[in-house]
Amino acid sequence: MTLDHNQFRFLPSVDELLRTSEGERLIATFSHDLVVSALRMHIAQARDAIRAGALCPSPEVLLAAADLSLRQQARPQLRPVINATGVIINTNLGRAPLSQMALQAVQEVAGGYSNLEYDLAAGLRGSRHTHITALLRELTGAEAALVTNNNASAVLLGLSALAAGREVIISRGQLVEIGGGFRIPDVIRQSGCTLVEVGTTNRTRIKDYAAALSERTAVLLTVHPSNFLMTGFTEATSTQEMAELAHAHGLLVMDDLGSGCFLPSEQYGLSHEPTPRESLVAGADLVCFSGDKLLGGPQAGILVGNADVIARLAQHPLMRAVRIDKMTLAALEATLRHYQRGQAETHIPVWRMIAARPEKLASRAADWAHQLTARGFAIHTLSGESTIGGGSLPGETLPTTLLALDAEQMPCALDLIAQRLRERSIPIITRIFRDTLLLDPRTILEEQDKEIVPALLSILTSP
Ligand SMILES: *Cc1c(COP(=O)(O)O)cnc(C)c1O
Repeated sequence: MTLDHNQFRFLPSVDELLRTSEGERLIATFSHDLVVSALRMHIAQARDAIRAGALCPSPEVLLAAADLSLRQQARPQLRPVINATGVIINTNLGRAPLSQMALQAVQEVAGGYSNLEYDLAAGLRGSRHTHITALLRELTGAEAALVTNNNASAVLLGLSALAAGREVIISRGQLVEIGGGFRIPDVIRQSGCTLVEVGTTNRTRIKDYAAALSERTAVLLTVHPSNFLMTGFTEATSTQEMAELAHAHGLLVMDDLGSGCFLPSEQYGLSHEPTPRESLVAGADLVCFSGDKLLGGPQAGILVGNADVIARLAQHPLMRAVRIDKMTLAALEATLRHYQRGQAETHIPVWRMIAARPEKLASRAADWAHQLTARGFAIHTLSGESTIGGGSLPGETLPTTLLALDAEQMPCALDLIAQRLRERSIPIITRIFRDTLLLDPRTILEEQDKEIVPALLSILTSP
C-alpha cells in the first residue's frame, strides 16, 4: 500500500477545531480540557487510520466523534437498565423498583428541607422514626418499630443491643450465608455474642434449644433460610415453641425474616412466605426484614416488636451508625401507604410483576416476536418461568412467555447480541440458556416495552 502523505496535511489542529462554533459549543458543555483531550485522541486515531491507507476525516467528523465520546464519558456510572432476566428481585440490578408515589415522595423531601427530626406540633426537635412507626405498627400488629439502613444492619443492631457479651442459640440448619459474604455466624460474633449452635443441619427440635439454655443465654435466634430450600427428612422448630421456651426462662426470641412479605404469597401461586405479623403473633419479641425485597420499597432494615425491646435498640450507640436517611424514609413511608390502602398489588412494581396475568405476558412477547418476524428474523416465543430472586421464595417460579432468539437462526453469536444489548444507552440485560437468548416481559417495565424491538433490530440488522 502506498502512503498518501497529502492526507496528513488535511488533518486540522486541535486549536482549529476548538475555534469552530461546534468546538465552542463542546467547550461550553464539557469544559476546555476535556474537549482538548477528546480531540487529541480522535486526531491521533485519524493519523493512524491515514497511515493504514484511509482518507483524512473532515473537521465535522472529528468534532462529531469527540462529541460522542465526551457524551459517553459524561454518562452517569450508575444508570438505569432494562431487566429482561425474569428475576424480579434482582440484587445485581438494584432489587425492588420503587412505585411512582415512592419516587414522588423522595423528590418532594430531598429537594428541600423537611421535618425529618422536627416535631411540627411542638416546634421542637423530634425523631426521624416517628414518621413511620404508626404505619408499621398498624401493618404488622407490633407494639413498636424502628428502621435502619438495611436488614443486615438491623440484625447487627438487634443482636448487639440484646445479646452482646451473652449467648445466642441458633439451629445448625439456619447458619446460612445470605449472599455477598453475609454469614449469620459471623454477624453473631461481630455483634459481640457467643454463638451456640444446636440440632443438626436438617433437624432441630425444641428440646435441642432447651438443652442449650444456660445462665449466659440472651436470645433464641431464628433466621429464614431465604435463599435455599431444604427438602426431605427435615424438621424445624416453630417460632411459637421457641417463644414459649424463651419466655418461660425470661429470654427473648429474635426472628430474621429476610424478605418481609406483607401479602399472602400463596394467593399468587407461590408457597406461603411467613409475614412479620405471623411471627409476632407466634411470640417473637423482635422481627426484622428488608425494605427492598418482597416489601417492594427502598433499601432499608425494618425492626418490629415489643416496646421495651425496640427501646433498647433505639438507645444503642450503633443506632446512629445504621440510621436511615431521609430519601429512604420518604420512599418507605409511601410504599407502606400502598399496603395500608390495599393498593400494593396494583402500585408496587414487585407485586405488579408477581401478579402479572400470564395472557398479558404472552401477548407482550408475541407482539415483539411478530414485529421482528415481520422484519425477516426467525424469532419466536417460548413458555418459561420467572423467579422471585433476591433471597426470597427460593425454588418458586411463575409461568411466563419468553421472547426467544435461537443461536442457529441469528446472524451472529448470542454472546455478541447480549453484549450489544448491554452496551446500549439504556442497557438491556438478558439471559442465555442452552443456545437461546431469552427476554422475559415480566420484569420489563411496561413503559420500557417500546425499547425492545428497536434494540434487537439495530443489532440484528448490523451484526
Ligand atoms: C436478605 C437478608 C438479609 C440482609 O438484608 P439486606 O436488606 O440485604 O441487608 C438478612 N437476613 C436474611 C434472612 C435475608 O434474607
